[in-house]
Amino acid sequence: MCTVRCPIKVDVENGQVAFIQGNPHVPAMKGAVCPRGAAGTALLHDNERPQTPLIREGNRGEGKWRKATWDEALDYVADRLKAVKEEYGARGIAFSDRGGPFRDYHRAFLKGLGTPNYNNHDSSCARNVQHSALSLTNMGRKAVSYDFKHSKHVVLQFRNIFEAVNVQEVNNLMDAMEKGCKLTVIDIRANISAAKASRFMQIKPGADYAFNLAVIHELIGKRLYDQAFVDRYVEGFKELRKFVGPYTPEWAEQETGISADKLRSFVEELAAAAPSVIWHPGWMAARYRDSFYICRSIYIINALLGAYGAKGGLPFVSKPGDVGVKGLKSFMDLYPKPEEKRADGVGWKYKHFEQGPGLAHLLYEAIETQDPYPVKAYIAYRHDPLMGYPEPERLQEKWGNLDLLVSVTFSWSDTAWYSDVVLPLSTYLERESIIATKNALKPQFFVRKRAVQPRYDSLADWEIISGLARRLDLPELVFDRVEDLWNFQLEGTGVTIDDFDEKGMVTLCDKPIYKDFQDYTFKTDSGKIEIHSKKLEDAGLPSLKPYEAPVSPKQGEFRITFGRCALHTQGHTVNNPLLNEQMSENTLWINTEAAAKLGINDGDTVVVGQNGYTETIKAQVTDHIHPDAVFVIHGFGHRLKVESRAFGKGLADNKFMSGGLDNWDPAGGAIAYQEHFVTVSKP
Ligand code: SF4
Repeated sequence: MCTVRCPIKVDVENGQVAFIQGNPHVPAMKGAVCPRGAAGTALLHDNERPQTPLIREGNRGEGKWRKATWDEALDYVADRLKAVKEEYGARGIAFSDRGGPFRDYHRAFLKGLGTPNYNNHDSSCARNVQHSALSLTNMGRKAVSYDFKHSKHVVLQFRNIFEAVNVQEVNNLMDAMEKGCKLTVIDIRANISAAKASRFMQIKPGADYAFNLAVIHELIGKRLYDQAFVDRYVEGFKELRKFVGPYTPEWAEQETGISADKLRSFVEELAAAAPSVIWHPGWMAARYRDSFYICRSIYIINALLGAYGAKGGLPFVSKPGDVGVKGLKSFMDLYPKPEEKRADGVGWKYKHFEQGPGLAHLLYEAIETQDPYPVKAYIAYRHDPLMGYPEPERLQEKWGNLDLLVSVTFSWSDTAWYSDVVLPLSTYLERESIIATKNALKPQFFVRKRAVQPRYDSLADWEIISGLARRLDLPELVFDRVEDLWNFQLEGTGVTIDDFDEKGMVTLCDKPIYKDFQDYTFKTDSGKIEIHSKKLEDAGLPSLKPYEAPVSPKQGEFRITFGRCALHTQGHTVNNPLLNEQMSENTLWINTEAAAKLGINDGDTVVVGQNGYTETIKAQVTDHIHPDAVFVIHGFGHRLKVESRAFGKGLADNKFMSGGLDNWDPAGGAIAYQEHFVTVSKP
């Protein structure tokens, strides 16, 4: 029910799902799933999800559809992809998804077609984290794991672990806290993670970088850092020390609202727990225009504390090859890398960004401007940019240049409704996926098998891609049985598909491997963590960016912010019958004093406005949010009548981000979602 993809076990009786639980062979699951996981059966039985392939008859977004068979729909899509390829070349085809471990097959499809234009949703999520990790170590954010179980102090700044739930991480952290692990939360709002924390520091919105620079100042100034680690593994320490010289805790107090004394005692406590500490670099870090540098400062703090590679800190993950097992055979290796440059400019116009998933908002700009070339077909695969990116109406206009817009989806979404073709994907309980690798302390292969037959006329990922591949002359990707696909992947690994039967996964070693750090080198030229990033500096960006104070809201305005709750996964569970019953609308968190000045009481309906656009929502008046900001749970404000339970309830935050598609972090690439302001008033 979310992209964490917790390992689960599904009990089936008489062809029906009877019970969903955490996979009992994975101790950290403790047999549990989160509330959304428990609502999987409601998704399965939901009669308000797309039930057959649909082809648009009216104008885009008008909702006039004709039902189609799979053959008709796949023929339709394949014919139009062929036409685009003929007229504009394969580069005229683009595709985006939500990332994750099951991408190899559909990315191979794109490579086979010859287009470089693969994107995922990450420019609306964790791109800044990834790029900041790369800028220091030349290793991505997933090169390390978070060893919550053995940690002595965890700091959450851009990560709300008890609401953006990952069941294993939550269980491990709770176990550690029972053994005395401290939890510090730094946020503009006392979220559920803050409620469980040993220390909560409410920070002025947009001032996180100031706080972190002062932490570095204090660690270095008081010699609380791990000197042996720094001597061995950090290049550029002297410049760092000089750079943070002016950023004292007293200075930071003025910027952040967090007292110098609090910061000092926090730093002392953190250093005392090092190296078994985790300052989480963040999940959804697409927030401010300097979020890249905030994430970078977090990685630097982890380095100063010696947490990189440490048990209870950020130990390095192992890959199958590290434990003597050949990796899965890749479908992507079947085809050469397309020679064309990417439409989004990543890799040639923006050389400091990683090419992999690119930056989807820049793809949309290219679709509009047709620069560097026309992109005429776009497949949004389990991805709803109209709900996930700012300015949905402007995005629709940009897409006006497309000859073909396809949505592959298991639930209705704004993007699906606006598409030319809707291809209904079976839910996770009804579909198989390709085998995937999890690089971890104990690396593993895992697979998703079909628990029940599809309830409606939907298909699995591999069936859809295989059906298109058959029509587009990519015989290497055509499979009639999923077993053939799995056998292709497992060739040479010594593992068979039957090996997955017992536990649902195949663990590739017996015990967690904490790599011997003495022998370890980072993937930079020096083999160390490099404070100076040549890539950044070549792009005209500083490695150590001086602090700039955030824009303060004007009189009568608030910074609009959003986040997650444990009951919903962004927009796509809001119409789920069970979860909607639990939480059918979002509310507007507003600070008590700020609300009093506006005459707003808890529970009042209020009008939120920006540039003449308004929506109404109920106010949640609370002391637990900074007075400069208001906050909503993301994913509400649905306006599709086919989603009767979600229709018309709550507010859609992305409609209050005027200019937001152009407001992104130049160093990290992600959208700066929290740089927008609204008015709040009584109706
Ligand atoms: S966190 Fe919850 S919704 Fe996400 S995969 Fe795990 S159980 Fe499912």
